[in-house]
Amino acid sequence: MKLTAIVPCYNEEAALHYFYEEMQKVMQEMQDVEFELLFINDGSKDHTLTVMKELAEKDARVKYISFSRNFGKEAAIYAGLENSDGDLTVIMDADLQDPPSLLPEMYHAIVDEGYDSVATRRVNRKGEPPIRSFFARNFYRLMNRISKADIVDGARDYRLMNRPFVNALLEMGEYNRFSKGLFGWVGFQTKWLEFQNVERVAGETKWSFWKLFLYSIDGIVAFSTMPLSIAAFLGVMMCLIAAAAIVFIIVRQLLYGGSAFGWPSMVCIIMFLGGIQLLCIGILGSYLAKTYLEVKKRPIYICKETNMTRSGEERHE
Ligand code: UDP
Ligand code: MG
Repeated sequence: MKLTAIVPCYNEEAALHYFYEEMQKVMQEMQDVEFELLFINDGSKDHTLTVMKELAEKDARVKYISFSRNFGKEAAIYAGLENSDGDLTVIMDADLQDPPSLLPEMYHAIVDEGYDSVATRRVNRKGEPPIRSFFARNFYRLMNRISKADIVDGARDYRLMNRPFVNALLEMGEYNRFSKGLFGWVGFQTKWLEFQNVERVAGETKWSFWKLFLYSIDGIVAFSTMPLSIAAFLGVMMCLIAAAAIVFIIVRQLLYGGSAFGWPSMVCIIMFLGGIQLLCIGILGSYLAKTYLEVKKRPIYICKETNMTRSGEERHE
């Protein structure tokens, strides 16, 4: 059995050594598995690539792919999947927030229990700002309501998958990738493991609140068309309210006369409607923008440097 571990790295020079050491222990424990560590350097601005090269020189199991710039974690995951040829593939963060010690148990679940993938979720969010946890929880709740992709609260990208599962993910060559949704969308039998949140071993998080917020909007646009329906629904509601108001005004005019008053309320109504219209156009626009990006069919990542003999693109030819 060959197991490829995909590790997206963006400015992780401080954490990589810890990660490698920790993996070393697990690899020794799992003697019967042939490991490959596939580091993806996502355009780091520090010495991450140098560290990767050092590791690759010491250990033939270490492979790296270096991007020409920062393409984001989703692109790094895709590059990893495309270039992994193991029977099993796992995605893990470089900061040890995805504990490698879970790997034997995950491996066991696929090989002996017959699952297609083993996913992990953290049961608490210790060490995370409360406001972020609040938004994250509600995002998951909303997402599960409005889309078919079933996304579990606290789910990590840390997941061990068999070949059919990886191939299914690669089938989806979309440009706007939202892995947490894709994992759920492809189906298959997945076992969930839970663990307590671990704080990152070194370096700092790359996700600001704003980045996470934009990412969540991407997720919604990628996996649900519900916002479009809401826009249409708002339009219908407004029409009904307006029709009722017209009837009311006509009746009042006939009964009491003199309806030429109340222009401040008129201004409010116009502004309110203008706002709703802009909102709906905005919603429409965000779907159009995503379609635009998708239609251009730009590559998801550009590889500048690698020590892999076969690149994913060759394999696709
Ligand atoms: N990462 C990446 N590209 C990016 C941002 C992050 O490859 O543009 C990697 C990062 O190096 C780490 C993983 O994605 O291995 C998760 O990032 P981080 O730990 O900063 O996120 P958090 O765990 O705080 O959500
Ligand atoms: Mg992290």
